[in-house]
Amino acid sequence: MCRQIQQSILGIGLFLLVCYGSANEVHLPENPEDVTLQKISDRIYVVHGLHELPNQQNKGLISNSGVILTESGVVIVDSGGGLEVGRRILTLIKEVTDMPVIAVFNTHIHGDHWLGNKAIRESYPGVQIYAHERAIKRLNEGEAENWLQIITTMAGSESAGTEIILPDTALHGDERLSFGGHTLVIHHTGHAHTDSDIMVEVPSAKTLFTGDIVEHGRAVSSDVPRDFNARGQIEAIRYALELPVDIYVPGHGATGGKEIPEASLLFLEALYASVKKYYDEGLQDFEMKNNIIADMAAYSDWFNFEELGRLISFVYLQIEEEDF
Ligand SMILES: [Zn+2]
Repeated sequence: MCRQIQQSILGIGLFLLVCYGSANEVHLPENPEDVTLQKISDRIYVVHGLHELPNQQNKGLISNSGVILTESGVVIVDSGGGLEVGRRILTLIKEVTDMPVIAVFNTHIHGDHWLGNKAIRESYPGVQIYAHERAIKRLNEGEAENWLQIITTMAGSESAGTEIILPDTALHGDERLSFGGHTLVIHHTGHAHTDSDIMVEVPSAKTLFTGDIVEHGRAVSSDVPRDFNARGQIEAIRYALELPVDIYVPGHGATGGKEIPEASLLFLEALYASVKKYYDEGLQDFEMKNNIIADMAAYSDWFNFEELGRLISFVYLQIEEEDF
């Protein structure tokens, strides 16, 4: 796959042709057997999850997990949606390195991003698991049990051994952490996809793991719309686009260049503008739904688009609150 990225540097138009070799070509899996560890660059690999809700076939393998190879071991960004998923990620990692896992980051509280922690801990008992301090607080206050029940019920894996292993090391954003000669920079921009997202930047690989602040080819946040703040997520994506990185690994969907967060940004901006337009005309959320679906027709092939009604209701409430 070749991508043409046009950049302007110091006012001089620079036309940069980025051609990924076949090893770096990103394929999204269509069934669980297709899931692989895909090489993105020298030190970065990604397990791309399926564009599905958790079910008995995928076992909760629906989100992306990032793998960073350092001089002293492997750093994982998001451990997947269950014990079997986490074990699968570890098996895939063993195809490229025998180094141990030395750290795990959970980008936010949604269970498809952290319920694989048990698999990492059973193989690497001392590994530190990082998350935003509010994510740890919310999970400890009962949301972990909710997520365990939701995902294991959907995936039919209630008795398959998935247990709650919570992140134990709190972050608040702006940390610079060193692992095996590589610095990772933690970003938190406020309430966006949730109130406790982190994005993980790898400056040495010019790569950003965005968590679900960016979801590519998928109606953003529609699974858990009550968590998300539309304007906050728009601001978070704009922030991500300003960082000095070339590769964006979204929480769901294909890894790529700036076009990946830009697509999510356009989706959210279009949704917000459409709801605002009909709000200003005095329509209630249920009255504007069909108009907005027509306005957003360009995204009708995105996963979860049929759930747009729930997103509209939450954006409507947020616009109403801002109006007071
Ligand atoms: Zn999420």
